[in-house]
Amino acid sequence: MSEHLSQDTQRAGKERISPPEQRQPEPGLDQKLEPRADHGERSYRGRDRLTGKRALITGGDSGIGAAVAIAFAREGADVALAYLPAEEPDAIRIASILDEAGVQVQHLPGDLRERSYRDSLVDQAAKALGGLDILVNNAGKQVSVPSLEQLRDEQIEATFDVNIFAMFALSRAALKVLPEGGSIINTTSIQAFDPSDHLMDYAATKGAISNFTKSLASQAARRGIRVNAVAPGPIWTPLQPSDGQPIEALPEFGHDTWLGRAGQPVEVSPAYVFLASDEASYILGSTVHVNGGKNQP
Ligand code: NAD
Ligand code: MG
Repeated sequence: MSEHLSQDTQRAGKERISPPEQRQPEPGLDQKLEPRADHGERSYRGRDRLTGKRALITGGDSGIGAAVAIAFAREGADVALAYLPAEEPDAIRIASILDEAGVQVQHLPGDLRERSYRDSLVDQAAKALGGLDILVNNAGKQVSVPSLEQLRDEQIEATFDVNIFAMFALSRAALKVLPEGGSIINTTSIQAFDPSDHLMDYAATKGAISNFTKSLASQAARRGIRVNAVAPGPIWTPLQPSDGQPIEALPEFGHDTWLGRAGQPVEVSPAYVFLASDEASYILGSTVHVNGGKNQP
């Protein structure tokens, strides 16, 4: 058994978890997450639903993006992973799992706040993979701050930069390279519809992403490109203990859903596979809600 699979025996399954209080600097690492998240390493089975497609996944090193990368690779897609350079240890581990699926894997680290990187990322991915069929806009920044008075302009700007301004730039570039039948999938959030007061800037970007998804979907449809969104609820990822939640809220994270537990990244990736696949050929401007049960639009 390879090294990463033996590590996975300690990963959380679909049981209710009560993570201990913990804190990591941004961006968090899956390697330091307690318990480790389940990205489908052992469980995700592909069914040739993306064979021959080429995908760029931002934030593909960990959490939801890593689960999407594993699922896409096992469905037969070549994958370019974008992530921050500090996340190289997580990216290397995920890339080794993709390698075992026998697909092409490319590493494109960089900071989406830097214009030169975000303006060239899609072209870099298309060049590395020999074309591009799918863009997953998944990178995100979430920092909990208790009050508007304590929310600094620098944080608001950074959150908007990573979560929504980069999405405009990447999508603009993708419209130039995606073929007819191509697909863009944006990660929004339950926060777009039911914002928490301590995530004011983050929730505002997620509302913007939901709205952007609809107007872009209408424009891109004229080129035969489908644009949709996934809105996760509470999912156990490194985002949460790297100031994404107040530390004392972590043991109860996700316990307020109808299922009474947080979700794992592997429970979100099938929505991306479906939206990316040709089976979703008549689905545009839609949002798939993956949240363990919460009131939703
Ligand atoms: P995560 O920390 O595993 O992934 C977020 C990724 O964003 C990081 O791995 C990092 O690569 C990337 N990123 C952050 N800042 C960046 C920057 N400046 N430049 C380049 N990349 C950067 O956490 P996750 O929860 O899997 O987050 C993925 C997406 O899911 C985010 O958009 C997040 O808002 C969204 N989301 C998460 C939850 C949840 O409960 N975990 C719920 C709803 C939505
Ligand atoms: Mg990460």
